[in-house]
Amino acid sequence: MSATVRVPLIAGNWKMHLDHLQAIAHVQKLSWSLKDAKHDYAEVEVAVFPPFTDLRSVQTLLAADKLAVRLGAQDLSPHAPGALTGDIAAEFLAKLEVRYVIVGHSERRNGHGEDDGTVAAKARAAVASGLVPVICVGETAAEREEHGGAAIALAQLEAAVASLPADAEYVIAYEPVWAIGSGAAATPDDAQTVARALRECVESLRGEADSLAVRVLYGGSVTSQNIAGFLRQPDVDGALVGGASLDPDEFSRIVQFRKHVTAG
Ligand code: PEP
Repeated sequence: MSATVRVPLIAGNWKMHLDHLQAIAHVQKLSWSLKDAKHDYAEVEVAVFPPFTDLRSVQTLLAADKLAVRLGAQDLSPHAPGALTGDIAAEFLAKLEVRYVIVGHSERRNGHGEDDGTVAAKARAAVASGLVPVICVGETAAEREEHGGAAIALAQLEAAVASLPADAEYVIAYEPVWAIGSGAAATPDDAQTVARALRECVESLRGEADSLAVRVLYGGSVTSQNIAGFLRQPDVDGALVGGASLDPDEFSRIVQFRKHVTAG
């Protein structure tokens, strides 16, 4: 990684919501809302992560209307193309102009048995095809009780980034599992504490340049009401937004956090 100016990234993870027709309408509404607000995509990057079946439709819309919204995927196979029924290779995503891909989301770790080794292999596969993995880390409520706020996230991060090539670009998303979809977000102070610890971990594993360049997002019950508190923190560089990204107007308000970053 090279740049030391960290452009904030607001990323919408749609999970298994919105078919390809709904996706087109959604991205149109989002882009109109951001156009009305005179949003500068160079100041705050915006990415959407639709289901696989929507990617081609959204890619076509973004290209046809020359929209600066970035495209992300929610998962990928750690393997090269082959006899792997149901899997999606990184290079297929790259052909669709997908830039980001989520790896290690707790809904994959917990619901699909993905361990740190699988997450690391997916991150490597993404980087090898020119994609930027968004590496999700975070503890469950029970793990927080037992180990505190940062230990699990740090261990998951180390496992995911240790084997990436030296010049790999990646994004980290700190997503405490207990905050995802619960309406109970972490406090901005807690998010900052863990984000800082994750950045220090990157410094010790991969050097100062990487630690200054890597973007650390917070995820877990982010809304337009609480985004300002997170983005005011020096080590929080954006948000991975689940539920609130399904409403284009609400997601647009989150993207425009700078308009209310000094408020409450
Ligand atoms: C997520 O699933 O990545 C997430 C952060 O969800 P939510 O915003 O709904 O908590």
